[in-house]
Amino acid sequence: MLTEMLLPLAFVATLTAFIFSLLLYLKALIAPASALAPGGNSGNPIYDFFLGRELNPRICSFDCKYFCELRPGLIGWVLINLALLVQEAELRGSPSLAMWLVNGFQLLYVGDALWYEEAVLTTMDITHDGFGFMLAFGDLAWVPFTYSLQAQFLLYHPQPLELSMASVICLINAVGYCIFRGANSQKNTFRKNPSDPRVAGLETISTATGRQLLVSGWWGMVRHPNYLGDLIMALAWSLPCGVSHLLPYFYLLYFTALLVHREARDEQQCLQKYGLAWREYCRRVPYRIVPYIY
Ligand code: NDP
Repeated sequence: MLTEMLLPLAFVATLTAFIFSLLLYLKALIAPASALAPGGNSGNPIYDFFLGRELNPRICSFDCKYFCELRPGLIGWVLINLALLVQEAELRGSPSLAMWLVNGFQLLYVGDALWYEEAVLTTMDITHDGFGFMLAFGDLAWVPFTYSLQAQFLLYHPQPLELSMASVICLINAVGYCIFRGANSQKNTFRKNPSDPRVAGLETISTATGRQLLVSGWWGMVRHPNYLGDLIMALAWSLPCGVSHLLPYFYLLYFTALLVHREARDEQQCLQKYGLAWREYCRRVPYRIVPYIY
């Protein structure tokens, strides 16, 4: 049974990520300077091994980071969730409503990532961070085994869920998804073609690099509307598990910390890239992630 093998599988995934990152580090030693990531090229082998020395390591045309970001971890997460749903059905006769919701919401999230896979090309992971142990471990081990914690929890702690409460949770997830998808698609469309009719009417700020920053639409609401949508969805994934235990809220807490830190890193990079234009954007759009709060 897959669910009984989760711990050994997580161990193997971690070991695989470690060996893989070691090979990536060795490969990066002979890579040209132009292929190195800005942050993972400090000269300290442990630091560079962890952060990733090479930006987008490739074997012929196979891009290792692009593949790991989108395929094994995300698909593994959905498969683990599904195995937990099937086991619950065997144990209790049918999957609970809470288990259906968690599976459905997370399947939508993974399906979205795969459907809009080219959007990953403009994320920080691809454009800025090197491919080292941090990302390899995150993609291969952390995502499938910790992001499925809610479904793991529900298998051992069944939760009664009223239809009315389930509808409210579905609504929260839908709101989060609309903000997340709307913001990501708007930026992606704008970066690909600023004259696209879907974004051509939006207000922008010009920068010295020739690129522009959106200052209306989703990106005029807060400086990271996509993070806001993601966090609202994270809340919706935890709520079906009730409020009796902290474990299902681990993802929400961890993800809040991750996105707050990620947002600060991105701000720093944007300030370096765009200077005064970024300051003007911050003045026009004062909140980072949550309107009027943060
Ligand atoms: P973003 O997709 O938010 O990209 C940030 C970049 O967008 C900036 O560096 C800048 O780059 C550009 N940008 C910022 N402001 C503007 C603006 N006003 N107008 C136009 N361009 C702007 O970063 P991430 O890679 O962090 O996130 C991508 C998605 O992945 C998010 O939805 C996030 O929630 C999700 N995510 C999910 C994780 C998970 O584990 N589930 C983990 C991490 C992220 P430039 O100007 O160079 O284009």
